Amino acid sequence: MPRPTRAIINLNNLHRNYSRAAGLAHPAQAIAVVKANGYGHGLQAIAASLSSVAPMFAVAMLEEALTLREVVPHTPVLIMQGVHEATDWATCSQLGFIPVVHSQEQLTSLQAAAERLSLTVWVKVNSGMNRLGFAPGQVPGVLSTLQQIPGVEVTTLMTHFAQADEAGCARTREQLGIMAGLRKQFPGLAQSVANSAAHYTTDPSGNEWTRPGIMLYGAAPLAGSTGLEMGLDPVMTLESELIAVRDLQPGDAVGYGADWVAERPTRMGIVAVGYGDGYPRAAPSGTPVAVAGRLTSLIGRVSMDMLAVDLGPVADATPGDKVELWGATVSVDTVARAAGTIGYELLTRVTSRVPRQYT
Ligand SMILES: *Cc1c(COP(=O)(O)O)cnc(C)c1O
Repeated sequence: MPRPTRAIINLNNLHRNYSRAAGLAHPAQAIAVVKANGYGHGLQAIAASLSSVAPMFAVAMLEEALTLREVVPHTPVLIMQGVHEATDWATCSQLGFIPVVHSQEQLTSLQAAAERLSLTVWVKVNSGMNRLGFAPGQVPGVLSTLQQIPGVEVTTLMTHFAQADEAGCARTREQLGIMAGLRKQFPGLAQSVANSAAHYTTDPSGNEWTRPGIMLYGAAPLAGSTGLEMGLDPVMTLESELIAVRDLQPGDAVGYGADWVAERPTRMGIVAVGYGDGYPRAAPSGTPVAVAGRLTSLIGRVSMDMLAVDLGPVADATPGDKVELWGATVSVDTVARAAGTIGYELLTRVTSRVPRQYT
């Protein structure tokens, strides 16, 4: 009999969130970002589901693009980190992948590619994130180098915001100014700038392409907010069940390190989920969790395979009752904040021993 721990993935909610992104982007087109196993939701299932609406997918690397191609044969796929090996250019050319060219090393490797290519590439501009990309002043030279490579066409300049999750940020305005300058210089090239947050904090509609990721999965792109507060629909429900219920007396300690000690008689439940499943070990006592639909909280340290919850607010709970670790009642963003991280990390870290079930 399987353990009752699973991640239920609601594909209707995924589509609702995609429609919101597409609406905010319009008339720019929203590329569905599905890197990191579809933010932990399952790359193939997410891509197959969105292939009816997304005009393009974005992944980080070639391996992800190849996995996606098994289920989505035709939609263009943007590889945001570009290729890592010279032989990969031909693979991109054959399978309709669009590699981003962000470095001189990639440019040199592409120039040296021996195969006959039929390849669209995007050029990444470093407008202030200072991670990847060419300085704005290098762009004209990069474009003329690319123009001289037979079979290679540059269609789009892309950049990435460092602080789009903060409304009214001066750095974001500077980054936008740089892209506006490049649009004047290269009016024939499309542009792509917006991650999820920028759909809310900037007007992305003047671009050709946006790149929403986290918002598609219903988690918050904005600092200090939750997906639920932003009107997004959570796509993943991480759920399990109570597998034991126990009454503690004052002075009884729970779990490793005896971190948590009952001050009064306490009914406690043990849930079959732990950090081995991707639930964050850093989540402290008091982190919200829902038992049989009612809010309560974690007590003691999270173990690898289980964790303990206070059944005070759910005194009639019994083994077999459903426990939501995150989903529609407890936002993944709230759990993330309690654990000192962001929803992105919790979603992408759900481990492979947790079956994904699609509804
Ligand atoms: C991951 C990523 C995105 C999507 O970001 P979200 O914050 O998840 O919307 C967009 N662009 C690039 C370059 C990325 O790496």
